[in-house]
Amino acid sequence: MLAASSLERFRFAGARVGGVVTAAATRGGADELASPRPRAAPRSGTKKHRDDDDVFDDARKRPRDVTTADAPSTPPQPSTKPPPPSPLSQASVARTPFIAPSPARWRERYAPTCEACERDRKHCAHHAEVPLKLLIIGHNPSDHSWESGYSYSNPSNNMWKLLVRGEIIPSAWTSDDCPRLAGELGIGFTDAGTEPGNDANAYGRAVMKEWREDLYARLRGHLCRASGRAIGGEEGDVADEIDDAAKTWRATAAAFGPSVVAFAGKRQYAQLFDTIPKRVEVGKQPPGSLPPRWPFCEDATEVWVLPSSSGRAAMTREARETPYLELGARLAEVEWPRRDGGFRGGAERRREPMKVLLRYDR
Ligand SMILES: [Zn+2]
Repeated sequence: MLAASSLERFRFAGARVGGVVTAAATRGGADELASPRPRAAPRSGTKKHRDDDDVFDDARKRPRDVTTADAPSTPPQPSTKPPPPSPLSQASVARTPFIAPSPARWRERYAPTCEACERDRKHCAHHAEVPLKLLIIGHNPSDHSWESGYSYSNPSNNMWKLLVRGEIIPSAWTSDDCPRLAGELGIGFTDAGTEPGNDANAYGRAVMKEWREDLYARLRGHLCRASGRAIGGEEGDVADEIDDAAKTWRATAAAFGPSVVAFAGKRQYAQLFDTIPKRVEVGKQPPGSLPPRWPFCEDATEVWVLPSSSGRAAMTREARETPYLELGARLAEVEWPRRDGGFRGGAERRREPMKVLLRYDR
């Protein structure tokens, strides 16, 4: 257990990493997503390690489904598209976080989970779900994470080292500390897809669109639980109430959404767009550039895209680390827990000693 004084540093002060990190250094390495290249047919059942979250980070891997699936014979016609619907008009809301069926253990982590609920694979209502400082969104759980229950637990994945490198978590923490992050640091984890697999290329455009709707429903569910407001996707919504409801939703998202959402990989972020962008740059995304129907408030929740943490994604160490250093510097400025409300006793509960399972007793 880390000393309280050490934790305070991470919560409120956050030591800066030496050296000036320039945006240009980060963005200069953005991969071009447009030009399709041939790729070998995926081998099934032979991969030992996950290509993890971001095929776009590896210039040698151009996923066919992304580069060609959205380049149909008929070009997109944005002018004929209807305006984006209200968040409420088609919203479904996941009432509880996703938990993998037995014998798997992977789960979404928006809040701490007590030992009993972790063991029983139940949603834990014993800890308040409060606005997060950072929500990390991966592609989908690796087979290793699906089994262990801890995000990015595959030893070949660099996520935990990168979080340490960016001073986003204390230096001694590893994937075994995954259950602590939400309660102690305000860091949550989820993925675009909630099914296990080590090959992101195996999931084509149609699947990714389904995942998008499911992800948005889960993110809306987090907002509802963090705010205590049962809004969005309720039966009985009628058209003339949509405007007011959308205002309520926007205010709720602004007050209770995460301070920062970080996509751990370009692929799952790019797939949120109706037309996949030709380029996705790492780092903080301009507010006006976010995907349609993005469930959080663009003015209140920063969206970052990070390079894949997969050990197999080909890039220099500097290119991989720099965005995590930038994110760490930004998070050091973010107050958490927030003082602007929304806790309804959650902050009090958080101060109590938490008993969470750090390792599974198998
Ligand atoms: Zn519980």
